[in-house]
Amino acid sequence: MPTPLDRSTTWPYENGELGAFSYSRFSSPTVAEAERALGDLDGGEALLFASGTAAALTVALALLGPGETVALAEGAYYGTGVLLRELSRWGLRHVEFDQTGKAPRDADLVWLEAPSNPFLTMPDFEAAASHPAPVLCDATAATPVHLRPLERGCDLVLHSATKFLAGHEDVLLGAVVCREAATAERLRELRGRTGAVAAPDVAWLLLRSLPTLELRVARQTESARIIAERLRGHPKVTVVRYPGFGGLLSFDVSDADAARRVETGTRLVANMTSLGGVVTRIEARSRWEGDRVPPGLLRLSVGLEDPEDLWADLTTALEAA
Ligand code: PLP
Repeated sequence: MPTPLDRSTTWPYENGELGAFSYSRFSSPTVAEAERALGDLDGGEALLFASGTAAALTVALALLGPGETVALAEGAYYGTGVLLRELSRWGLRHVEFDQTGKAPRDADLVWLEAPSNPFLTMPDFEAAASHPAPVLCDATAATPVHLRPLERGCDLVLHSATKFLAGHEDVLLGAVVCREAATAERLRELRGRTGAVAAPDVAWLLLRSLPTLELRVARQTESARIIAERLRGHPKVTVVRYPGFGGLLSFDVSDADAARRVETGTRLVANMTSLGGVVTRIEARSRWEGDRVPPGLLRLSVGLEDPEDLWADLTTALEAA
């Protein structure tokens, strides 16, 4: 049975006392239900935010202060670095490190990404878990289908639920899943103060999407494996990055002009940003990330179309590379 959508912003006090729900900036029944469902998938206490970025901001503001340092996985989602740079105006510092090894000892929060977007590296979870600071893993691209970071020694999991979790290109949503109830409580408190909470409609859309998550991700993985393998044998492709699971991969062609010709040369594969949806999309990441990525790097998020149709489309476009 689908969960009913409750759009109320307020609920009556119970005999003059605060009940479970009072004002929707703090929480609401549909948001709480979606949090329960996601918490079950990741094995912790989940909180929903207005976007993945709002989730990341709330973690930084709630758990860190001026003069403290985040050790951020090199090659992680470029927007996380942009956000942390913005917060440097308030005295928060960050350093990048190679997440396949150890994080700098003096970090106050270790920020992993599994797999990193768009470089597709995987963290060394054992090394991270032995760090004295709390460890966060952005598992947007892995999803709980492939990875449960709390079982690998992490303290927090972050998702841009905009991507695979919601999966239909119609939801902007973020989530943090906490190992400790006290951490969840602190995040909940700050979320209420900043108003970074998710809306009930969006939480309801997540509830619609979660029952098909495993099916979607299995199909995306199956197709992405086929495409990654064929790309590896293609004469116009110099590098393929794929961790062996999930729907996200990246590959390089010779230069920026070739990448432009490929991304604009597909018909079935959309030339759009984002990832994790039912529609396969490709884009040259240098338009967003500049020289942080090779000029010929193309990021491909594999959707639910027939992999043979996708490959035929990609090979046609690659001929022009
Ligand atoms: N984390 C990763 C790995 C992402 O790819 C993104 C967005 O692309 C985000 C976080 C930010 O999420 P949102 O766009 O929902 O704010």
